[in-house]
Amino acid sequence: MKRTHTCGELTLDNKGEKVILQGWVKKNRKLGALTFIDLRDRYGTTQLLIDESSQKKFPEIKSEFVIEITGEVLERKSKNPDLKTGEIEVKVINLIIINEAKLTPFEIKDGLEANEDTKMTFRYLDLRREEMQKNLLIRSQVNKIIRDYYHRLNFIEVETPIFGKSTPEGARDFLVPSRVNVNKFYALPQSPQLYKQLLMIAGMDRYFQIAKCFRDEDLRIDRQPEFTQLDMEMSFATPEDIQNNIENLLAEIIFKVKNIKIKTPLPRITYQEAISKYGIDKPDLRFSLEINDVNDIFKSSEVNLFCNLKKNEKIRAIKVDSLLAKKDLEQLTEVAKQNSLVNLPFLKYSNNEWTGSLAKNLSDSEKQQLLKKFEIKGDCTILFAVGDFDISSRGLGAVRNEAAKILKLYKPEEINLLWVVDFPLFEFSEEENRYVAAHHPFTQPKEESLQDFDKNKSTALAAAYDIVMNGFEIGGGSQRITNENIQKRMFKAIEMSNQTVEDNFGWFINAYQYGAPYHSGCALGIDRIVMILTQASSIREVIAFPKNSNGIDPMTNAPDLVSTKQLDEINLKLK
Ligand code: ASP
Repeated sequence: MKRTHTCGELTLDNKGEKVILQGWVKKNRKLGALTFIDLRDRYGTTQLLIDESSQKKFPEIKSEFVIEITGEVLERKSKNPDLKTGEIEVKVINLIIINEAKLTPFEIKDGLEANEDTKMTFRYLDLRREEMQKNLLIRSQVNKIIRDYYHRLNFIEVETPIFGKSTPEGARDFLVPSRVNVNKFYALPQSPQLYKQLLMIAGMDRYFQIAKCFRDEDLRIDRQPEFTQLDMEMSFATPEDIQNNIENLLAEIIFKVKNIKIKTPLPRITYQEAISKYGIDKPDLRFSLEINDVNDIFKSSEVNLFCNLKKNEKIRAIKVDSLLAKKDLEQLTEVAKQNSLVNLPFLKYSNNEWTGSLAKNLSDSEKQQLLKKFEIKGDCTILFAVGDFDISSRGLGAVRNEAAKILKLYKPEEINLLWVVDFPLFEFSEEENRYVAAHHPFTQPKEESLQDFDKNKSTALAAAYDIVMNGFEIGGGSQRITNENIQKRMFKAIEMSNQTVEDNFGWFINAYQYGAPYHSGCALGIDRIVMILTQASSIREVIAFPKNSNGIDPMTNAPDLVSTKQLDEINLKLK
């Protein structure tokens, strides 16, 4: 290459050398007789120096021009210890413009607060910013660690189709009309689930793939219509084998990227414990703030809210070690309401005095029991939820997360990982008025549920597990059903007719009649993991070309209208 060095490379070791650099003009400033230019590329920034006598020789340059310079490396007078190249500068001997640049719609700098859609319209400029480059570099590093790890362990990387048949992952499919097969559609894979199971039957033994997945769901900060999974599956492996494999991988990623040592084996808690202690199946355990049942304390209470409890209603509460200000309580009440709670009654305790919306009829015995139950030693606030167990748990779970944020109960760079195991096999769908598979219908019931999972659907447990990082579900998997009879019972339990099963999965279930190993697997959301590792505020920050919150790419304007000719070719007419 013509350049002798990148812009992030030169140090005092190169003093006196003649070099050629190419890059973008980050800054261009005149100080008296001298001109200083910061030249930027992906590797860093190098300071260029043009003295007065040379200035007239060179063309005028502006920010974001791409230039090439020949120059001599000098020791800098005022050094910049924060920069790898901070001890040197390059005195420019020759300068040519490779390409000029228009005034950019926003300044290319870290901490930029431009409108999201403007940034996405000019994504290639946004990606010039150091913090965005760092995100993509870390993502590339994570992919490499994954590939190295799995090759080391004898896994093979297999690519599976993007044009396939609908797989039952629980979300809506994206459909692609086939031109050649009139009126028929491919579905984009929600995950490579069925293919990887077939690879086990095919004898591949250990499979992994960094796979694109597509789900037509409403967007959130941690959701995009297309996203990337590390997908893996192992034959003759139990859920514990998979959990060990995945946690060792994550420990390696976190150590190599963040230099943080994660202690393995990771804690494992059951789904039931997660809901009951933290109100959510993906608890953030960087802080404790456990939810407690306090029905016992208020058995014969005169507090208005507690005297007329209905049979199934639970009183649940969390204590925070702080006297929450009015504004914080309002913020928490708002979160409670967004999560189906009617309100968020509270008690405050300070200097032996109880105040707050529930304090009026609180008896001495109740006060004593509260002190004991919550091991109260100083000022605190107790937040209550009353209602059905699930609603009060989930409501307080959301309040718990918000309270930790308000009270800054964790350090932003901290990382906490855990497994949530023993998920329910089914969940009841109000919409469809039937039980549906909570994970997917190929998930093996847990040993203790094998006998009666199709009779006791509300309590049946699955051999399924999720991995949680800082309150985000970053992955999950299960042991798969490999027995025809269990699979049939499973489909019957979710009220799928034989015909539907045959039409949709006949091809898949048949495969299990030709000799299948038992197998288990898992998938990790790479976008979410990189988002947490880079402390980005959304997965959009770690995807090169994402969609905005309406599922649109403002740069290309996808999705867009297509011509009548294109529609005719695929035999479609718009409604
Ligand atoms: N395919 C599943 C998912 O995307 C993961 C698995 O069961 O391996 O959630």
